[in-house]
Amino acid sequence: MGIRVPDYISTLKPYPPGKPLEELEREYGITNSIKLASNENPLGTSPLALEAIKRNLKNLRRYPDGSGYYLKRRLSQLLGVDEPSIVLGNGSNEIIDLVIRTFVQPEEEVLMSEPTFLVYPLMTQAVGARAVKVPQKYFAHDLEAMAKAVTPNTRVVFLDNPNNPSGTVISRKEFEVFRNRLPGDLIIVLDEAYMEFANPERTITGLEYLSDSPPVISLRTFSKAHGLAGLRVGYGIMPPEVADYLNRLRQPFNVNSLGQVAALAALDDEEFILETQKVVREGLAFLYAELEKLQLRTHPTQANFFLIDVGHDGRKVYEAMLRRGVIVRAMNSYGLDNYIRISVGRPEENQRFVDTLAEVMAELE
Ligand SMILES: *Cc1c(COP(=O)(O)O)cnc(C)c1O
Repeated sequence: MGIRVPDYISTLKPYPPGKPLEELEREYGITNSIKLASNENPLGTSPLALEAIKRNLKNLRRYPDGSGYYLKRRLSQLLGVDEPSIVLGNGSNEIIDLVIRTFVQPEEEVLMSEPTFLVYPLMTQAVGARAVKVPQKYFAHDLEAMAKAVTPNTRVVFLDNPNNPSGTVISRKEFEVFRNRLPGDLIIVLDEAYMEFANPERTITGLEYLSDSPPVISLRTFSKAHGLAGLRVGYGIMPPEVADYLNRLRQPFNVNSLGQVAALAALDDEEFILETQKVVREGLAFLYAELEKLQLRTHPTQANFFLIDVGHDGRKVYEAMLRRGVIVRAMNSYGLDNYIRISVGRPEENQRFVDTLAEVMAELE
């Protein structure tokens, strides 16, 4: 082919998503499979959001409200930030993309830890910039080493808090020391996709640091605790000047109309969030206890997922579990060859996961 593609595009590796249930059942000819691979809500979707979706089906011929007026207004009330500080996205993934495209030029650097959410290096490479990866220490961001890795070319720092895939969080002291060491001309992104599951006494949110220098962007999503991953709604909270730049690049109708009404309803569905938190808390306690019986090493988490050291090639465990209808996540693409990551499910799913893992581990002995 005669087309010319920049090297940084031709060498891009697509994001490896968790395997969809339908795909597994189609490929393996099985039914009744379960998916504990993408940190989705074990209970489903906020019932209030589902009602709002039904009520709004009749409006689908209209373009959505490109300003996201009602959703931003409610977020502003709940979070205590002004509306011009909020940018809505087609999932928080879109905000990650927007931040990088807005502030990073080819050859410049984006700082992150390793392992971390794979979307950060992907979007960085997509603009011809360099992803600088700083190894974690005990499965947590090594903020001291990250501060040392900052150069005059560093434009953005991504910190997923809690971290995906480890579930660890950043403490207040650590964060403040880190922030004080940074120059004022770069942006700190705190990706808080799992904040609803974390113990607030153990960590910080970007909301507390909005007016400080360097600027902080806090990313949130409706994909996890609210159970709306399929509709793609997330948002960023940031200083208004930063939001103004992102809004120049943002597609005018980036958040669809059902997503907007569903997210608005889900925000006030406290009962669903509380129930979700309870199921996750109890599921974690069950899973940790059972995995200890299997003598498998796990890592404590502040999220709705965690890592398990399976002591073998995690891909083998992943595939053997797939054949038995249980989808987990192999961690080789994160550089953790002997690990799998599992999302907390409903009690019967957790039980099936444990039983299946025990079978698979015995087979691999
Ligand atoms: C799941 C997840 C998100 C959410 O992405 P959406 O685009 O909002 O669905 C963001 N960051 C991390 C680290 C995640 O694991």
